Amino acid sequence: MKLTNRSKVVSNKEMTIAEKIYLPAIFKGMGITFKHAVRTVIKGAPAVYSYPEVQKPRAKVWRGQHVLKRDEEGRERCTACGLCAVACPAEAITMTAAERTKDQKDLYREEKYAEIYEINMLRCIFCGMCEEACPKSAIYLTDRLVDVQTNRGSFIYGKDKLVEKINERIDITSRQSEKQKNAVK
Ligand code: SF4
Ligand code: SF4
Repeated sequence: MKLTNRSKVVSNKEMTIAEKIYLPAIFKGMGITFKHAVRTVIKGAPAVYSYPEVQKPRAKVWRGQHVLKRDEEGRERCTACGLCAVACPAEAITMTAAERTKDQKDLYREEKYAEIYEINMLRCIFCGMCEEACPKSAIYLTDRLVDVQTNRGSFIYGKDKLVEKINERIDITSRQSEKQKNAVK
């Protein structure tokens, strides 16, 4: 059965003399390097960044560390529906749902919430499927980088690292489509 239309027919034809001496391929490669060098000089953009002191500018839609959003009243948006976990191709998301009590109305937006919500950052491939699957606009990827750690357990990010701080909101509007912006109340 044919799985894709992208299969490439491999040719067994004899190499030409130019191919055998490799020089054209070497000059072609050097041409690409030279083109980038000239472009760097003309644009004035640094070819090397002194990371981590100086960070390379990232695109607005960069997919970095996730954030679990709060609504405008500060309540957690996530209702522990599990759709993000189902959509995740890396099986990186796990959660435990709990029922909201009467005195927790200010904390959680809906009657069910995620008591535990964890993302394994070593498994995550930052594809953004969780963001797309979420019906509550609760999870977004951000332009933040995941911290370097020295043990595997530290890459399991829980709610303490994922839920945005009430006084330090994270702007994700550049990641939202117009439809999504209008849908978020
Ligand atoms: S970004 Fe992709 S891999 Fe990472 S948690 Fe979301 S769905 Fe899973
Ligand atoms: S983040 Fe969104 S999709 Fe995932 S459990 Fe919470 S509400 Fe559901």
